[in-house]
Amino acid sequence: MQAKLNIVPFVSVDSMMKLVLAIGVERFLTELATYIEEDFRRWELFDKTPRVASHSHDGVIELMPTSDGHLYGFKYVNGHPKNTREGLQTVTAFGVLADVGSGYPMLLTEMTILTALRTAATSALVAKYLAPKGARTMTIIGNGAQSEFQAIAFKAITGIDRLRLYDIDPSASRRCAKNLAGMGFDITICASGQEAVEGAEVITTVTADKQYATILTDNMVGSGVHINAVGGDCPGKTELHRDILLRSDIFVEFPPQTRIEGEIQQLDGDHPVTELWQVMTGKAAGRTSDKQITLFDSVGFATEDFSALRYVRDQLQATGLYEELDLLADPDEPRDLFGMLLRASAKEGVIA
Ligand code: NAD
Repeated sequence: MQAKLNIVPFVSVDSMMKLVLAIGVERFLTELATYIEEDFRRWELFDKTPRVASHSHDGVIELMPTSDGHLYGFKYVNGHPKNTREGLQTVTAFGVLADVGSGYPMLLTEMTILTALRTAATSALVAKYLAPKGARTMTIIGNGAQSEFQAIAFKAITGIDRLRLYDIDPSASRRCAKNLAGMGFDITICASGQEAVEGAEVITTVTADKQYATILTDNMVGSGVHINAVGGDCPGKTELHRDILLRSDIFVEFPPQTRIEGEIQQLDGDHPVTELWQVMTGKAAGRTSDKQITLFDSVGFATEDFSALRYVRDQLQATGLYEELDLLADPDEPRDLFGMLLRASAKEGVIA
């Protein structure tokens, strides 16, 4: 796409916001979901590894690499639940897409907004296979940064149009409801998690707390619901009571990573789970009965970020929403890297 290989397109936060607004949030999420599904369907082609996590007292910093043999992508992402108290985001991210043939980066982009979009697109895509047919009511427990994206993706992709919101901080629910006003939702703010799950066909948990939390207890989950458990995504950080897991059919992205990070870290290492790529390729069943409790134990996997990077790259030419970054050294003669420095010093009148 770019004329000079040493110049790398860079999508800043400002450009990403313009890109999302130019395309439209619902269309962006729907198109992104098709890229994510496409990559799940070619699952066996990908290099896969649990993400590389560096844990500290307050949070985690992770690298998420993958490749399909032609393109290579990685995301840098953090998770620090205490950050919001200091006016910082819980989750921030950026990522790179590169050409496997030359090893040259082709795109550097912000991924904080893109992560919220890809997480929501993945959740809604999975719900298309697992949620009860015709579901219209979703509970969202945890009304922080990810919540509106989740709501809009479910509306665009699965037809959810009634929301029941709950957060331990009522101002978070009020903000979420205000941000979603006029987007076609019927919204109820609830005073407890118990009240929020009443009548819901889909329950999304997307809280941030660095502990084994119990956002849902067993008695809160009736038969037939689909649970979209997004917030438990680190060792020692879960949201569901173990008994719910024992009553559910559990669907995961990449088992070796989910067993470390997901709700299923509470279960034996050989507890049966179904891989999503198998459901999406017809190799395994999704929802099979009205009574079944389906659980998407979401932790976020590298292929979803890879799909998001591919999607953003495909939008750049038409929209021009990027800057050109002088990221890669480009001497006239490839081996003359030091000579390039000498020529620059002569130009600047500086002794090297
Ligand atoms: P955030 O800090 O912006 O929002 C979290 C919200 O949860 C806050 O409003 C907080 O008040 C609320 N909360 C905390 N404990 C609660 C409780 N016991 N009951 C009800 N509400 C509670 O965080 P965010 O960016 O929205 O992320 C939410 C979670 O999702 C984080 O844990 C993050 O790590 C996770 N996440 C997962 C994925 C994935 O792919 N699975 C992707 C992105 C983020």
